[in-house]
Amino acid sequence: MTEEMRDRTFATFEGKHGAPSLEELCGGLLSEQQAVWPEFRRACESLRRVRTRDVACDGFSVRLVFNPGRAVNTTAAVSPEEIRERPCFLCTANLPLEQKCILYRDEFLILANPRPAIPFHLTIAHISHRPQAIVGHMEMFLRTTADLGPGFTILYNGPRCGASAPDHLHFQAVPSGQMPIENEIDGAKGSTPPVSLRARIAGTSVLRMAGLGREIILIEGDNASSVADAFDDYARGLADASIPPNPPGEEPMMNTAASFNGKTWRLLVFPRRAHRPAAFYRDDDGRVLVSPAIMEMAGVIVTPAERDFDRLDAAAIESLYREVSLTHG
Ligand SMILES: [Zn+2]
Repeated sequence: MTEEMRDRTFATFEGKHGAPSLEELCGGLLSEQQAVWPEFRRACESLRRVRTRDVACDGFSVRLVFNPGRAVNTTAAVSPEEIRERPCFLCTANLPLEQKCILYRDEFLILANPRPAIPFHLTIAHISHRPQAIVGHMEMFLRTTADLGPGFTILYNGPRCGASAPDHLHFQAVPSGQMPIENEIDGAKGSTPPVSLRARIAGTSVLRMAGLGREIILIEGDNASSVADAFDDYARGLADASIPPNPPGEEPMMNTAASFNGKTWRLLVFPRRAHRPAAFYRDDDGRVLVSPAIMEMAGVIVTPAERDFDRLDAAAIESLYREVSLTHG
């Protein structure tokens, strides 16, 4: 471990029996960061003042969140040129001076998200600078989900559909049950295997959920490597079936969310056709500052513009999902 890493490390988690749980360590990290990092403390305090509004759509609901503090995330510049020209904000050398981490299984750093979308929002960044990708990392994603326990849901944004650091592998974690889809998925009707599914992996179930306004694939199983195999198979089929064709070497656009109840992993996959709605790029009154990433796909629509918070209605939200989702469910 470098000296810089040693200085940054609040705690280490290696999964040893009898050691503090990862959830306890994360609680400790967030308390410490609020105490010593004024900018983070202010970001947490500002969360108490955000306005929210629930909107009932056809077959599902969303929670709109007006949060001016998230403007940086919503309007993040993510083109390859722009990414090359900025210092990576997830590399340890560029983290704010006050920022501490939990060194997680020698491979990831768990950090307080400096601009939380909801309380207890964590960033889980790889210790080294390497491209954002879920294909090939799903088993680690599921392992992290189990280590954090049933209290957290772990999130992933694809490099071309929501990740604000497409050049540095990272996940996020938020407290479970905060995103509407987590509670709606059990009541969803008419689920069938997705068309692109090529193999059945023993001990897993892969279903395309219907009636929720956007394409959602639900993968469940009691064994992390089987769930990861089922996901890899689905992702390969998705890459082959994509229209327009998937760029060679790029993973198909998708966001994922995983939870673990102590026995079974539940993985939600949101395949995408577009990163942002056309209205995002307008330069007139019709501009809508919503940049759909995993939280938006899961039903929490963060907007830094009060005008959008006030005017987005069920029809606009249904249309937004149709535009950015692969197909609509
Ligand atoms: Zn980096």
